[in-house]
Amino acid sequence: AAMRESRIEKTKTVCTYCGVGCSFDVWTKGRDILKIDPQVEAPANGISTCVKGKFGWDYTNSEERITKPLIRKGDSFVESTWDEAIALIKSKFTSIKEEHGPNALSFISSSKTTNEESYLMQKLGRGVIGTNNIDNCSRYCQSPATMGLFRTVGYGGDSGGIEDIRNSALVIGVGTNTSESHPVLATRVKSSHKLRDQKLIVADLRKHEMAERSDLFVRPNPGTDLIWLSAAAKYILDQGWEDKKFLEERVNGLDEFKANLDKYTLDYAVEKTGIAKEDIIEIAKSVYEAETTCILWAMGVTQHLGGSDTSTAISNLLLVSGNYGKPGAGAYPLRGHNNVQGASDFGSMPDKMPGYEDVMDEEVRAKYKNVWGVDLPSEKGLNNHEMIDAIHDGKLKAMYLKGEEMSLVDSNINYVQDALAKLDFYVVQDVFLSRTAQFADVVLPASPSLEKDGTFTNTERRFQRLYKALEPMGESKPDWQIIMEVANAMGAEWNYSHPSEIMAEAASLADIFAGVSYDRLEGYNSLQWPVFADGTDSPVLFLDEFPFPDGKARLYPVDWTVPVQYEEQYDLHVNNGRMLEHFHEGNMTYRSQGIKDKTPNNFVEVSPELAIERNVKDGSLVRIISPYGAIKVRCIVTERVAGNELYVSMNDSGDAAINLLTSSYSDKDTDTPAYKEVKAKMEVLETE
Ligand code: SF4
Repeated sequence: AAMRESRIEKTKTVCTYCGVGCSFDVWTKGRDILKIDPQVEAPANGISTCVKGKFGWDYTNSEERITKPLIRKGDSFVESTWDEAIALIKSKFTSIKEEHGPNALSFISSSKTTNEESYLMQKLGRGVIGTNNIDNCSRYCQSPATMGLFRTVGYGGDSGGIEDIRNSALVIGVGTNTSESHPVLATRVKSSHKLRDQKLIVADLRKHEMAERSDLFVRPNPGTDLIWLSAAAKYILDQGWEDKKFLEERVNGLDEFKANLDKYTLDYAVEKTGIAKEDIIEIAKSVYEAETTCILWAMGVTQHLGGSDTSTAISNLLLVSGNYGKPGAGAYPLRGHNNVQGASDFGSMPDKMPGYEDVMDEEVRAKYKNVWGVDLPSEKGLNNHEMIDAIHDGKLKAMYLKGEEMSLVDSNINYVQDALAKLDFYVVQDVFLSRTAQFADVVLPASPSLEKDGTFTNTERRFQRLYKALEPMGESKPDWQIIMEVANAMGAEWNYSHPSEIMAEAASLADIFAGVSYDRLEGYNSLQWPVFADGTDSPVLFLDEFPFPDGKARLYPVDWTVPVQYEEQYDLHVNNGRMLEHFHEGNMTYRSQGIKDKTPNNFVEVSPELAIERNVKDGSLVRIISPYGAIKVRCIVTERVAGNELYVSMNDSGDAAINLLTSSYSDKDTDTPAYKEVKAKMEVLETE
């Protein structure tokens, strides 16, 4: 054993931070992680990584890992055996189900865990407990993008791959801070912009690095993107610049769409968005002139009352200009987490089975009954936003949550934390005793990505395998094993011995994964869904048809929703997003010493004009107060923001957590929190 411990091993893995999906070799010796070694054959990144992928792995060996199950005793936790913890879960889940029915229980999967683990979580909820109350954190980010794409083109994924973005003639980024949120993908755009004459247009509230580099930067008023997108589409149609052949052969609904665009005149758009008329015309003209256009978007679009509608407007603009179904073009909602795409793809949604097949569809349920041997619940379940309300209403009694820091990353966290404290029985499965786990009755120790086999799906719909590099620490276990133990305690008879068997089952059920297998994903091999039974995959979607009965896409008319209104005293708009070095609430990156040492505590960016007006400087301490809560942070005075616009990073888990300020308002179509519609007032505490 001593010999083995001293051996240096090399294992292929996939980054566990953002949705770009960089893969690389990790070199280990015993439990020491020696280096990250990117390989040229890695499909998404080649030899590139960002700081998180390269240095963000210390958390795996952190002393703060939980390594034994914990059971609540009064105000604290005591360590228990696995048998005790599972027995307690069995007895509580059983009694709650008997007394209140299966819909009193709920399940939350994690975008940090593998596809196979999300598949099992929804199988446990639906097939063993009998409820569709299952969701994942894409509800907090990209569900509106998925909705916009479902409405118009039928698949909720990026139209092509990172290579297509690189090869496109025009890239438009809307509400995406790409260089910090998707760093390696951003380098592809930066190099194409510099070396290949790719045109770059950025629409954002904040003049971030991509905006600095762009050929045209526009700064719309908060929450008005739908208006300039629709005005650009109208302008294209008015000029006769639309792709007539494409519209005629491949798209439905043009007349109705056109009629609805009447109100989106240039004058109306200028009045509402604050963007200059010439700039809107320039955007429309650029799309018309470019051979191919890709539109990238992220939370700046989706986290609004009308997030789904704005995502739809993006897709409409692409349809009008014929920018689907060819390489180098299309829609690119950039996925946040490494496996947020996969968590939804594999059915951790209240209305969709794996592969986005509808739970309300009798044929779909019959197909699952055949393999799972049970009847599935037929009505749509609660999403995670509705779950919180249902706990407050006393209808939802139990929750089993894996790997989500829900009590910090959901909006209006004072309200969320009150709900979690009210649950009759709450199981959290995580690597750390997270803030969310502190409300739990039972905490189950899970293994992070380096300690297990599985697959992740990145923002390009690309399946990639990760291989176990380290043994699980202490008594922690891979999530799929834990879920199987819970399921079997509840009467199931699952006997998976490896995640490849779980994938084989999912592939046999979900049409768009039909040809996915571990053999085809060996090493650096990858597949982009839909994957057909013969193993051919789909790097570019919609080449021949759109996945609707008649094979045609649909222009989908949408209207603007006025953002959340606040009392006059809340006079500053608070935008929020990521920092390059950190990931979300920081449970992983704050445990990487190198990263932690180099980055500051949370901060607020203040414009030079506001700084003069309020008498603050770099380093001044302020309190920012919204109707829902307050945070205390230091100021950075910068031209990245303008006027009464503040920017706060979302990477804080303490007194400066952004979601102390956010409301419970949400996108009207998907319930994604309107995180970007926050107004606040600012109190100066120390000017120095
Ligand atoms: Fe990881 Fe994303 Fe950085 Fe790549 S760009 S190394 S996937 S965090």
